[in-house]
Amino acid sequence: MTKTGKLAVLGSINADHILNLAQFPRPGETVIGTQYQVAFGGKGANQAVAAGRSGADIAFIACVGEDDIGERVRKQLATDRIDITPVEAVAATATGVALIFVNGEGENSIAIHAGANAALTPERVTAHQQTIADASALLMQLESPLESVLAAARIARQHQTQVILNPAPATQLSDELLSLVDMITPNETEAEILTGIPVSTDDDAARAAAVLHNKGIGKVLITLGSRGVWLSDNGQGQRIEGFRVKAVDTIAAGDTFNGALLTALLEKQPMAEAVRFAHAAAAIAVTRHGAQPSVPWREEIDSFLQ
Ligand code: ADP
Repeated sequence: MTKTGKLAVLGSINADHILNLAQFPRPGETVIGTQYQVAFGGKGANQAVAAGRSGADIAFIACVGEDDIGERVRKQLATDRIDITPVEAVAATATGVALIFVNGEGENSIAIHAGANAALTPERVTAHQQTIADASALLMQLESPLESVLAAARIARQHQTQVILNPAPATQLSDELLSLVDMITPNETEAEILTGIPVSTDDDAARAAAVLHNKGIGKVLITLGSRGVWLSDNGQGQRIEGFRVKAVDTIAAGDTFNGALLTALLEKQPMAEAVRFAHAAAAIAVTRHGAQPSVPWREEIDSFLQ
């Protein structure tokens, strides 16, 4: 079978309800908010949007509820150059939701309901196995049921589809799942949870990467916020600096990095160049507020890099 450079992203969709208020409400208290907005998020959707806007040929495997907001999210994703055929509307289920309070100090307090994201069962993943088989690469995160992530990785391995795992939010993972991963992209916190090694220096990152190589993962990219990324390609390690920008909001920095990285790799850009492309996309994203609204389009990334 010939592969044509397609990307499959499997993951979560959330509607973020963001309420700004002076102080968080205490138990039993009602407070009046100053500003309210609904924005689309979820790590899966953010990464799919980053891939779509940066130019990938991408299909997204996900679930929404059979509700108003689910329909709106699907329409929005389609405008971001994403094939939403495998985004299923699940009956009698609500679309995933994040309820976010932001106080006067800019701190946030977040409660999440998985909603339809929990309905992305291994059976539903299997129903979309052709999408995974047709793709050159499968990008996943950990806001979907772990057994479904494992099921998708197994299908990918059977069909020579590369498996890329962004292991967020941080959790420990089975050796079986890690052995099916070709490339992993933790941030410092996630790298520590996976390896037991706190990552603050390049040496720490190299040691954490070695642990992940020992689990059978060929390419390890540990993102280091404004310091860039530690790239360890089959044990050959180097730090690739990011771009210096005035960051106003780092929400979805990692998601933008992952989506853009896959776009560049599927265009067969060499790894170091692909990282630079992803750094540029993420640097633009941190200069803007919000998750999906901050994700740049291809023209913006190309002109940033000129
Ligand atoms: P996460 O958002 O998953 O915690 P990081 O904070 O490690 O991930 O950031 C991911 C990528 O986003 C970095 O490798 C870099 O490309 C970019 N980035 C993050 N913070 C900044 C910043 N302050 N300035 C420029 N780029 C940044």
